[in-house]
Amino acid sequence: MRLGLTGGIASGKSTVSAMLAARGAKIVDADQVAREVVLPGEPALESIVSVFGQAVLNADGTMNRSELGRLVFGDRERLDKLESILHPAIRVRMWKQMDAYLEEDPDRLVVADIPLLYETGQASLYDGVMVVYIPRALQMERLMVRNALSADQAKQRIDLQMDIEEKKRLADFIIDNSGTLEDTKGQIAQFWRDQGLP
Ligand code: ADP
Repeated sequence: MRLGLTGGIASGKSTVSAMLAARGAKIVDADQVAREVVLPGEPALESIVSVFGQAVLNADGTMNRSELGRLVFGDRERLDKLESILHPAIRVRMWKQMDAYLEEDPDRLVVADIPLLYETGQASLYDGVMVVYIPRALQMERLMVRNALSADQAKQRIDLQMDIEEKKRLADFIIDNSGTLEDTKGQIAQFWRDQGLP
């Protein structure tokens, strides 16, 4: 089974993906893959250089994130161009990893951890989507603590994403992470049994 895993910022995706991994699920992490596709020698990095120029490279051939960020900041057209290079590269690589895991063992759970899964319209690609849910007030609280942010800064980041209540409505499986970690672990155990996972 290919499961999409998402939620809001600081709702507990990493926490839940670690719990799933502990039970034997294989995790493919969109943020990690996003870093891999721009390593030196990767076609996506070559495309980025051909569009944005050599200035987006550091002396050692790695991508100069701050320079690239500066070039696309506030420029919708450039940002679209960058995303049109990155997004397909990320998806192809994630899909290859998932296929490889399922080829090894078709019965296992393969989880794609994608923070903006709904925002980027990827829900239908998965057999099901699990949303890690906490109410917005608690989301604010956990985000402020984890990232040492003010209430305004936390609110700004949360407002960049689809409302967590909307994600909860769209979910195939809801994990409510507003209780203790033990409580969340219990919900994962229940999910595992319901799906008849090995
Ligand atoms: P995400 O990956 O969705 O951004 P994390 O898994 O990093 O979220 O969780 C956000 C923060 O909340 C972290 O500091 C984490 O330790 C904490 N946290 C997660 N789940 C719980 C929980 N059930 N109870 C208390 N704190 C939690």
